[in-house]
Amino acid sequence: MTRTKILGAVLAKPQEPLGIHELLIDEPLPGEVRLRILAAGLCHSDLHYLDGTLPIDLPAVLGHELMGEIVAVGDADAVDRIGERAVVTITPSCGICDQCSAGFSTRCTRVTRRRYRSRPKVVTKHGEPVNLLGSIGGFAEQVIVPAAAAIPVPVDLSPSAGCLLGCCIATGFGAVVHGASVSPLDTVAVIGCGGVGIAALQAARISGARQVIAIDVHEEKLERARNFGATDALLSGSDIIEQVQKVCPGGVTKSFEAVGSPATADLSFEILSAGGVATVLGLERPGSRISLDAALLIEGDRRIQGAYMGSNQMARDVLGYVDHYRSGALELDQMVTSRWKFEQINEGFAAMREPGAIRSVVEFI
Ligand SMILES: [Zn+2]
Ligand SMILES: [Zn+2]
Repeated sequence: MTRTKILGAVLAKPQEPLGIHELLIDEPLPGEVRLRILAAGLCHSDLHYLDGTLPIDLPAVLGHELMGEIVAVGDADAVDRIGERAVVTITPSCGICDQCSAGFSTRCTRVTRRRYRSRPKVVTKHGEPVNLLGSIGGFAEQVIVPAAAAIPVPVDLSPSAGCLLGCCIATGFGAVVHGASVSPLDTVAVIGCGGVGIAALQAARISGARQVIAIDVHEEKLERARNFGATDALLSGSDIIEQVQKVCPGGVTKSFEAVGSPATADLSFEILSAGGVATVLGLERPGSRISLDAALLIEGDRRIQGAYMGSNQMARDVLGYVDHYRSGALELDQMVTSRWKFEQINEGFAAMREPGAIRSVVEFI
């Protein structure tokens, strides 16, 4: 068995900087491809594992928002994919379970089996297996993913823009168009103006929503939200429900929560008009509970829902995202608030904590 030397950013202990180490990556097995990473977005989910807020087996390589180039394939008949550029989806679907067959690949019931592998993808130079977030581990020079999880994109797509499609655009844009079917008659509020929130905000604008309200605790993020097309930008505080009522009497018809806390999930429900729908997107800690005002739920026909990874169908959606990017409607380059070399990845994470940050991107080329 041949393994290839790569550099990977390894998390050995929560709250400690990632260490860049030499690792060994396997050859792709049948049904897999190996990609050389061109750009990786630093997502708040990665930050939660880095901080220890979400549990993960260690040592681990984080990273899941990626654009790369296919350098090896596990099937002889897929050899024409070598050289193809692709974004990676974190939800590799099987294509044959009841959910996949119904067109809901993010709900694939066989995802664990899809990620199963007879031997570790990546090991340390001493031969010990390294855990890979989402079975991807994208903060490394190369990754192995199921062939169907490497979604082809145009070869001239900017990698730093393209990588965003894999997580924050898939989630935020997908939630607006697939999860909540926003229309020009909707009034929309987005809670949390990081990568996912700004993606949702832009999708609501592109969908023609008549009002798009950005809500955040940082004035710097609200300033950016205005530039991405928010019609109103509200600094969240104890009076936030009254603030929303003031700019949108009766409440909004669609709200999106992109923070990942029970309090903001609650808020997304409480700012709804009667008949409104709240979509909760932020990853919550295991065991978290959301409490709802029963009268608002029952007497106002309000609904609250999830839309995991924006209920995306990446292979179908991605060219639409690229077209909106190329027309200038979907502003991806403006979402990249800082760029870093791979060896500066810890600085990239530090930059993410700045109040005005949307996305830090690590560029490998
Ligand atoms: Zn992510
Ligand atoms: Zn499936």
